[in-house]
Amino acid sequence: MAETPLPLEVRNLRKRFGDNEVLKGLSLQAHQGDVITLIGASGSGKSTFLRCMNLLEQPNEGELIVHGEPIRFKETRHGREPADWKQVERIRAKLSMVFQGFNLWAHMTLLENVIEAPIHVLKKPRKEAIEQGRALLDRVGLLERADYYPVQMSGGQQQRGAIARALAMDPEVMLFDEPTSALDPELVGDVLKVMRDLAKEGRTMIVVTHEMAFARDVSSQVIYLHQGLVEEAGPPGEVLNNPRSERLRQFLAPKH
Ligand code: ADP
Ligand code: MG
Repeated sequence: MAETPLPLEVRNLRKRFGDNEVLKGLSLQAHQGDVITLIGASGSGKSTFLRCMNLLEQPNEGELIVHGEPIRFKETRHGREPADWKQVERIRAKLSMVFQGFNLWAHMTLLENVIEAPIHVLKKPRKEAIEQGRALLDRVGLLERADYYPVQMSGGQQQRGAIARALAMDPEVMLFDEPTSALDPELVGDVLKVMRDLAKEGRTMIVVTHEMAFARDVSSQVIYLHQGLVEEAGPPGEVLNNPRSERLRQFLAPKH
């Protein structure tokens, strides 16, 4: 019997901005239900790595394989580009991303935010999208905020709304780029709770975070990036509790 394809596989990905090579050959395999956390100092390439995964940035080299489907690239005068933007659109729908902040469209209510892509990208009937959208808002504890505009909600509520919106695409993999780092401390817990629930139900997730307790409790794998390379990777019990790299040890040491 054929094996089920991995939700996401990245092989030897490289990314340059001009002469500055910021990702120097990164690989990653996400199995169904994996929660992979990416940690590392500011500027180590975490965001760029995530952005390359769903082609918000174009990797210069390397392979991306989403649920068994390799992204096709072509060489142009300006470097490498996706060969088929329709494919990119399809892939992006499978890898929903939640950013640090400003996720929701300001001119739409929360519910409108959540149903927009299911209606326009997945071509779902409006009624069905609304039903599903309300159920998702209920799950993240925001049903009573369905008709609010983002500006009327706290940062934590907006982030939970952004997660509901990402979930509405029923993505293969969810990508999170420091989803709690712009929040007031008292709002962080509710967002992490939603993410913990997603992990528990077996969502495949790749999470850039500085929340080490979350990484320790939830990750199947922790990847520590340093200057665009994997410095150390493995299960959280090893990487976070017993790091081999001196640099990682420093990174994890409590700051004063
Ligand atoms: P992290 O998320 O780990 O803080 P980033 O991926 O944002 O790191 O950045 C990695 C490096 O790439 C940094 O040196 C940053 O200045 C550079 N970089 C990121 N985005 C761009 C860009 N659009 N143009 C030029 N340099 C960039
Ligand atoms: Mg970043």
